[in-house]
Amino acid sequence: RTVYVNGEYLPETEATVSIFDRGFLMADGVYEVTSVLDGKLIDFDGHLARLERSLTELDMDKPDQFDELLEIHRELVRLNGIEEGMIYLQVTRGAPGDRDFAFPDAETTRPTLVLFTQNKPGLADSPAAKTGIKVIAIDDIRWGRRDIKTVQLLYPSMGKMMAKKAGCDDAWMVEDGFVTEGTSNNAYIVKGGRIITRQLSNDILHGITRAAVLRFAREAQMEVEERPFTIEEAQEADEAFVTSASTFVFPVIEVDGVTLGDGTPGPVARRLREIYLDESRKSAV
Ligand code: PMP
Repeated sequence: RTVYVNGEYLPETEATVSIFDRGFLMADGVYEVTSVLDGKLIDFDGHLARLERSLTELDMDKPDQFDELLEIHRELVRLNGIEEGMIYLQVTRGAPGDRDFAFPDAETTRPTLVLFTQNKPGLADSPAAKTGIKVIAIDDIRWGRRDIKTVQLLYPSMGKMMAKKAGCDDAWMVEDGFVTEGTSNNAYIVKGGRIITRQLSNDILHGITRAAVLRFAREAQMEVEERPFTIEEAQEADEAFVTSASTFVFPVIEVDGVTLGDGTPGPVARRLREIYLDESRKSAV
Protein backbone atom coordinates (compact mmCIF):
# COMPACT_ATOMS: atom_id res chain seq x y z
CA ARG A 1 0.00 0.00 0.00
CA THR A 2 1.16 3.52 -0.76
CA VAL A 3 0.61 6.02 2.05
CA TYR A 4 1.18 9.74 2.43
CA VAL A 5 3.31 11.48 5.08
CA ASN A 6 4.11 15.21 5.09
CA GLY A 7 4.31 15.74 1.35
CA GLU A 8 5.56 12.31 0.30
CA TYR A 9 3.92 9.22 -1.18
CA LEU A 10 5.72 6.18 0.24
CA PRO A 11 5.35 2.42 0.64
CA GLU A 12 3.73 1.89 4.06
CA THR A 13 6.84 0.10 5.33
CA GLU A 14 8.95 3.18 4.68
CA ALA A 15 6.59 5.77 6.21
CA THR A 16 7.71 7.06 9.60
CA VAL A 17 6.69 9.61 12.24
CA SER A 18 8.89 10.82 15.10
CA ILE A 19 8.53 9.23 18.56
CA PHE A 20 8.19 12.82 19.85
CA ASP A 21 5.09 13.40 17.77
CA ARG A 22 2.39 14.87 20.01
CA GLY A 23 -0.20 12.66 18.36
CA PHE A 24 1.70 9.64 19.71
CA LEU A 25 2.62 11.10 23.11
CA MET A 26 -0.51 13.12 23.94
CA ALA A 27 -3.29 12.26 21.49
CA ASP A 28 -2.78 15.86 20.33
CA GLY A 29 -4.26 15.27 16.91
CA VAL A 30 -7.43 15.21 14.86
CA TYR A 31 -8.62 12.96 12.07
CA GLU A 32 -11.18 12.41 9.34
CA VAL A 33 -12.43 9.30 7.56
CA THR A 34 -13.83 9.70 4.06
CA SER A 35 -15.49 6.87 2.17
CA VAL A 36 -14.75 5.95 -1.42
CA LEU A 37 -17.46 4.55 -3.70
CA ASP A 38 -16.92 3.95 -7.43
CA GLY A 39 -13.39 5.30 -6.89
CA LYS A 40 -14.79 8.68 -5.78
CA LEU A 41 -14.87 10.57 -2.48
CA ILE A 42 -18.13 10.78 -0.54
CA ASP A 43 -19.02 14.05 1.28
CA PHE A 44 -15.45 15.33 0.83
CA ASP A 45 -16.32 19.02 1.36
CA GLY A 46 -18.03 18.25 4.66
CA HIS A 47 -15.05 16.31 5.98
CA LEU A 48 -12.63 19.04 4.92
CA ALA A 49 -14.76 21.72 6.60
CA ARG A 50 -14.95 19.72 9.84
CA LEU A 51 -11.18 19.13 9.76
CA GLU A 52 -10.64 22.87 9.52
CA ARG A 53 -13.02 23.43 12.42
CA SER A 54 -11.30 20.78 14.59
CA LEU A 55 -7.92 22.43 13.94
CA THR A 56 -9.27 25.89 14.79
CA GLU A 57 -10.90 24.68 18.02
CA LEU A 58 -7.57 23.18 19.16
CA ASP A 59 -5.54 26.21 18.08
CA MET A 60 -3.56 23.95 15.77
CA ASP A 61 -2.04 25.18 12.52
CA LYS A 62 -3.29 23.79 9.23
CA PRO A 63 -0.81 21.35 7.73
CA ASP A 64 1.29 22.99 5.02
CA GLN A 65 -0.43 20.84 2.37
CA PHE A 66 -3.99 21.73 3.48
CA ASP A 67 -4.96 23.26 0.13
CA GLU A 68 -3.86 20.13 -1.74
CA LEU A 69 -5.92 17.69 0.32
CA LEU A 70 -8.41 16.86 -2.43
CA GLU A 71 -5.58 16.06 -4.85
CA ILE A 72 -3.79 13.99 -2.21
CA HIS A 73 -6.95 11.98 -1.49
CA ARG A 74 -7.48 11.38 -5.22
CA GLU A 75 -3.88 10.41 -5.81
CA LEU A 76 -3.97 7.84 -2.98
CA VAL A 77 -7.20 6.38 -4.36
CA ARG A 78 -5.52 6.13 -7.77
CA LEU A 79 -2.20 4.71 -6.53
CA ASN A 80 -3.95 2.05 -4.46
CA GLY A 81 -6.67 1.26 -6.98
CA ILE A 82 -9.48 1.83 -4.47
CA GLU A 83 -13.00 1.35 -5.84
CA GLU A 84 -14.71 0.93 -2.47
CA GLY A 85 -13.05 1.76 0.80
CA MET A 86 -11.91 4.55 3.04
CA ILE A 87 -9.27 7.21 3.37
CA TYR A 88 -7.98 7.96 6.85
CA LEU A 89 -6.41 11.38 7.43
CA GLN A 90 -4.68 12.52 10.60
CA VAL A 91 -3.15 15.86 11.55
CA THR A 92 -1.17 16.21 14.76
CA ARG A 93 0.54 19.20 16.34
CA GLY A 94 3.80 17.71 15.18
CA ALA A 95 7.03 16.62 16.76
CA PRO A 96 9.03 19.06 18.85
CA GLY A 97 12.41 17.68 19.93
CA ASP A 98 11.19 16.91 23.43
CA ARG A 99 8.12 16.12 25.52
CA ASP A 100 6.40 19.16 27.01
CA PHE A 101 2.77 19.89 27.97
CA ALA A 102 2.90 23.40 26.52
CA PHE A 103 2.22 23.61 22.80
CA PRO A 104 5.42 23.90 20.77
CA ASP A 105 6.37 27.00 18.79
CA ALA A 106 4.30 26.83 15.60
CA GLU A 107 7.14 28.47 13.64
CA THR A 108 9.53 25.60 14.20
CA THR A 109 7.20 22.63 14.80
CA ARG A 110 4.91 22.06 11.85
CA PRO A 111 1.85 19.78 11.99
CA THR A 112 2.27 16.15 10.93
CA LEU A 113 -0.04 15.06 8.10
CA VAL A 114 -0.65 11.36 7.46
CA LEU A 115 -3.11 9.72 5.08
CA PHE A 116 -3.68 6.08 4.16
CA THR A 117 -6.32 4.08 2.33
CA GLN A 118 -8.30 1.05 3.44
CA ASN A 119 -9.59 -1.16 0.66
CA LYS A 120 -13.12 -2.42 1.49
CA PRO A 121 -14.72 -4.16 -1.46
CA GLY A 122 -18.43 -4.57 -0.78
CA LEU A 123 -18.58 -1.54 1.53
CA ALA A 124 -21.90 -0.33 0.11
CA ASP A 125 -23.35 -3.83 0.26
CA SER A 126 -22.32 -4.79 3.77
CA PRO A 127 -24.15 -7.67 5.54
CA ALA A 128 -24.82 -5.52 8.64
CA ALA A 129 -26.94 -3.20 6.49
CA LYS A 130 -29.24 -6.16 5.79
CA THR A 131 -29.30 -7.82 9.19
CA GLY A 132 -29.03 -4.71 11.37
CA ILE A 133 -26.81 -4.37 14.43
CA LYS A 134 -27.25 -4.86 18.18
CA VAL A 135 -26.18 -2.16 20.62
CA ILE A 136 -25.63 -2.13 24.38
CA ALA A 137 -25.80 0.94 26.62
CA ILE A 138 -22.69 2.18 28.44
CA ASP A 139 -21.86 5.29 30.43
CA ASP A 140 -20.41 8.16 28.44
CA ILE A 141 -17.26 9.07 30.35
CA ARG A 142 -15.51 10.95 27.51
CA TRP A 143 -14.26 14.53 27.76
CA GLY A 144 -16.53 17.53 27.14
CA ARG A 145 -15.45 18.47 23.59
CA ARG A 146 -16.78 15.55 21.58
CA ASP A 147 -17.54 17.97 18.75
CA ILE A 148 -13.80 18.00 18.01
CA LYS A 149 -12.73 14.88 16.12
CA THR A 150 -9.62 14.07 18.14
CA VAL A 151 -7.65 10.83 18.04
CA GLN A 152 -8.46 10.16 21.73
CA LEU A 153 -10.33 6.97 20.91
CA LEU A 154 -9.49 4.80 23.91
CA TYR A 155 -12.91 4.90 25.53
CA PRO A 156 -14.79 4.31 22.26
CA SER A 157 -12.45 1.33 21.66
CA MET A 158 -13.25 0.02 25.14
CA GLY A 159 -16.94 0.50 24.41
CA LYS A 160 -16.64 -1.57 21.25
CA MET A 161 -14.97 -4.33 23.29
CA MET A 162 -17.71 -4.20 25.96
CA ALA A 163 -20.25 -4.63 23.15
CA LYS A 164 -18.33 -7.57 21.68
CA LYS A 165 -18.10 -9.23 25.08
CA ALA A 166 -21.89 -8.90 25.40
CA GLY A 167 -22.36 -10.54 21.99
CA CYS A 168 -23.36 -7.21 20.39
CA ASP A 169 -21.93 -4.98 17.67
CA ASP A 170 -21.66 -1.55 19.22
CA ALA A 171 -22.43 0.60 22.25
CA TRP A 172 -24.59 3.69 22.69
CA MET A 173 -23.20 6.03 25.29
CA VAL A 174 -25.46 7.55 27.93
CA GLU A 175 -24.92 10.75 29.90
CA ASP A 176 -27.35 12.19 32.48
CA GLY A 177 -29.90 9.59 31.39
CA PHE A 178 -29.80 10.42 27.67
CA VAL A 179 -28.06 8.80 24.73
CA THR A 180 -25.24 10.95 23.36
CA GLU A 181 -24.07 8.85 20.39
CA GLY A 182 -22.55 5.52 19.36
CA THR A 183 -18.85 4.77 19.85
CA SER A 184 -18.20 5.78 16.24
CA ASN A 185 -21.55 6.92 14.88
CA ASN A 186 -24.57 9.12 15.52
CA ALA A 187 -27.68 7.50 17.01
CA TYR A 188 -31.34 7.77 15.94
CA ILE A 189 -34.71 6.30 16.81
CA VAL A 190 -37.92 6.32 14.80
CA LYS A 191 -41.33 6.61 16.44
CA GLY A 192 -44.59 6.99 14.50
CA GLY A 193 -42.60 7.86 11.36
CA ARG A 194 -40.71 10.65 13.12
CA ILE A 195 -36.91 10.53 13.18
CA ILE A 196 -35.46 11.53 16.56
CA THR A 197 -31.76 12.31 17.08
CA ARG A 198 -29.83 14.36 19.62
CA GLN A 199 -29.29 18.00 18.67
CA LEU A 200 -25.80 19.30 17.91
CA SER A 201 -23.71 20.58 20.83
CA ASN A 202 -20.28 19.92 22.32
CA ASP A 203 -21.69 16.61 23.61
CA ILE A 204 -21.52 14.81 20.25
CA LEU A 205 -19.55 14.74 17.04
CA HIS A 206 -21.26 16.73 14.31
CA GLY A 207 -21.48 13.81 11.91
CA ILE A 208 -21.04 14.61 8.24
CA THR A 209 -23.28 11.66 7.38
CA ARG A 210 -25.80 12.89 9.98
CA ALA A 211 -26.05 16.27 8.24
CA ALA A 212 -26.59 14.67 4.84
CA VAL A 213 -29.08 12.05 6.06
CA LEU A 214 -31.18 14.64 7.93
CA ARG A 215 -31.19 16.88 4.86
CA PHE A 216 -32.36 13.99 2.64
CA ALA A 217 -34.98 12.98 5.22
CA ARG A 218 -36.42 16.51 5.29
CA GLU A 219 -36.34 16.71 1.50
CA ALA A 220 -38.33 13.46 1.42
CA GLN A 221 -40.93 15.08 3.76
CA MET A 222 -39.98 12.88 6.71
CA GLU A 223 -40.39 14.47 10.12
CA VAL A 224 -37.18 15.11 12.05
CA GLU A 225 -36.96 16.03 15.71
CA GLU A 226 -33.55 16.99 17.15
CA ARG A 227 -33.66 16.25 20.87
CA PRO A 228 -32.11 13.82 23.34
CA PHE A 229 -33.74 10.43 23.94
CA THR A 230 -33.30 7.74 26.59
CA ILE A 231 -32.45 4.05 26.24
CA GLU A 232 -35.98 3.22 27.47
CA GLU A 233 -37.49 5.37 24.72
CA ALA A 234 -35.23 3.67 22.17
CA GLN A 235 -36.36 0.26 23.42
CA GLU A 236 -39.98 1.27 22.78
CA ALA A 237 -39.25 2.84 19.37
CA ASP A 238 -40.45 1.38 16.07
CA GLU A 239 -36.92 1.31 14.78
CA ALA A 240 -33.44 2.71 15.30
CA PHE A 241 -30.31 3.30 13.26
CA VAL A 242 -26.83 4.79 13.26
CA THR A 243 -24.91 6.84 10.70
CA SER A 244 -21.21 7.32 9.98
CA ALA A 245 -18.95 7.88 6.99
CA SER A 246 -17.67 4.30 7.10
CA THR A 247 -21.04 2.56 7.52
CA PHE A 248 -23.45 5.11 5.92
CA VAL A 249 -26.71 4.00 7.60
CA PHE A 250 -26.89 0.81 9.68
CA PRO A 251 -30.25 -0.29 11.10
CA VAL A 252 -30.25 -1.12 14.83
CA ILE A 253 -32.40 -4.12 15.75
CA GLU A 254 -31.63 -4.49 19.46
CA VAL A 255 -31.04 -1.89 22.17
CA ASP A 256 -29.51 -3.05 25.45
CA GLY A 257 -31.11 -6.49 25.31
CA VAL A 258 -34.50 -5.44 23.92
CA THR A 259 -35.45 -6.38 20.36
CA LEU A 260 -37.09 -3.60 18.33
CA GLY A 261 -40.23 -4.60 16.45
CA ASP A 262 -39.77 -7.96 14.75
CA GLY A 263 -35.97 -7.76 14.95
CA THR A 264 -35.40 -6.87 11.31
CA PRO A 265 -34.25 -3.52 9.82
CA GLY A 266 -37.06 -0.97 9.72
CA PRO A 267 -38.38 0.75 6.58
CA VAL A 268 -37.15 4.25 7.52
CA ALA A 269 -33.56 3.09 8.08
CA ARG A 270 -33.59 1.06 4.87
CA ARG A 271 -35.01 3.94 2.86
CA LEU A 272 -32.55 6.47 4.30
CA ARG A 273 -29.64 4.17 3.50
CA GLU A 274 -30.82 3.87 -0.08
CA ILE A 275 -31.34 7.61 -0.51
CA TYR A 276 -27.99 8.40 1.12
CA LEU A 277 -26.09 5.97 -1.12
CA ASP A 278 -27.83 7.24 -4.28
CA GLU A 279 -27.44 10.92 -3.52
CA SER A 280 -23.91 10.82 -2.13
CA ARG A 281 -22.74 8.80 -5.15
CA LYS A 282 -24.16 11.50 -7.39
CA SER A 283 -22.26 14.25 -5.59
CA ALA A 284 -19.03 12.25 -5.07
CA VAL A 285 -15.84 13.89 -6.31
N1 PMP B 1 -19.84 10.11 16.43
C1 PMP B 1 -18.62 9.61 16.70
C2 PMP B 1 -18.18 9.52 18.12
C3 PMP B 1 -17.79 9.17 15.66
O1 PMP B 1 -16.56 8.68 15.92
C4 PMP B 1 -18.27 9.24 14.32
C5 PMP B 1 -17.43 8.74 13.16
N2 PMP B 1 -16.13 9.15 13.18
C6 PMP B 1 -19.53 9.78 14.08
C7 PMP B 1 -20.29 10.20 15.17
C8 PMP B 1 -20.08 9.89 12.69
O2 PMP B 1 -19.51 10.98 11.99
P1 PMP B 1 -19.36 10.95 10.42
O3 PMP B 1 -20.74 10.75 9.86
O4 PMP B 1 -18.81 12.28 10.07
O5 PMP B 1 -18.45 9.82 10.08
